[in-house]
Amino acid sequence: MTQHVKQSFYTTVEHPFSIEHTEDVVCNFCTSEEFRSLGEELGYSIRCCSQCRLVYINPQPTVDEIPAFYDNMYMDDSPDEIAARGLGYTEKQLAKIVRKRMPHGGELLDIGCGFGAVLKEMAQYEEWGLQGVEIGEKAVAYARELVPSATIQEGTLAEINYPPASFDCILMVTVLEHVKDPLAVLKQVMTWLKPGGLLLLQTPHVEPFIRMKRYVPSVPIHFEAPRHLFDFSPRSLRMYMQGAGCEDVNLDIAVPYACGTRWGVAMIWGMKLIGFALHRLSFGYYVWPYAGGLIAHGVKADD
Ligand SMILES: [Zn+2]
Repeated sequence: MTQHVKQSFYTTVEHPFSIEHTEDVVCNFCTSEEFRSLGEELGYSIRCCSQCRLVYINPQPTVDEIPAFYDNMYMDDSPDEIAARGLGYTEKQLAKIVRKRMPHGGELLDIGCGFGAVLKEMAQYEEWGLQGVEIGEKAVAYARELVPSATIQEGTLAEINYPPASFDCILMVTVLEHVKDPLAVLKQVMTWLKPGGLLLLQTPHVEPFIRMKRYVPSVPIHFEAPRHLFDFSPRSLRMYMQGAGCEDVNLDIAVPYACGTRWGVAMIWGMKLIGFALHRLSFGYYVWPYAGGLIAHGVKADD
């Protein structure tokens, strides 16, 4: 069966995929089977765990189906076209957070580095050694050319491994919502981080829009099921980071990184400016639900 992931704030292209095998899942964080239904997209039910409030889709594609999503995604667009959709703000925002929290630099790993935009931004700071991992062959080749100083591996999270305590900073930008078992992935990733090292996660946050869509069906937001398996909130991001052994967890609102249309950019900024203002006014305490993407960062607790 071939379906199309819809355009949204987070995906600027529609791309086809076909899925043959799906399976029923329980809550990834707390393993509860109880849930409330938030809605439905392309035949996938969007659930909110009754125990820990994690938002996830059910059923989910089986593990072997997932790599094919990315082959399709990179198929019909040239890397230059995809890279050109980036607005360039995200990379600067992430670099600023990393440099503020880890001013001395060190070894940095970008998991899911895509076409290398974040590595490129970090490459101007000599105190950082750079490594990346990416699933798509085309993206890996492009990133290697864009950031010659970085070591970039091709592979999935299941295929890669590093010695314990290899890195001072690990970034996962829009990765966690794609993986089947985010808790296991984070626990694995944390072993590669040195004690006191920085973990930074960026994820979409569309749950408030899904709730709104029930009353206003024209709300142009999509979960991106089944490519996105989870939707993280400020609460669930903290829960995951602390569950994986992070402390001193902070949240920032992500700036927009790409968008298909000018109207979309204007709308995102309109929404976000309110979010940024409220976030500032509350000294970083309040995260407006309509802010869009989230960035969570925390350090690995000493053993
Ligand atoms: Zn749960």
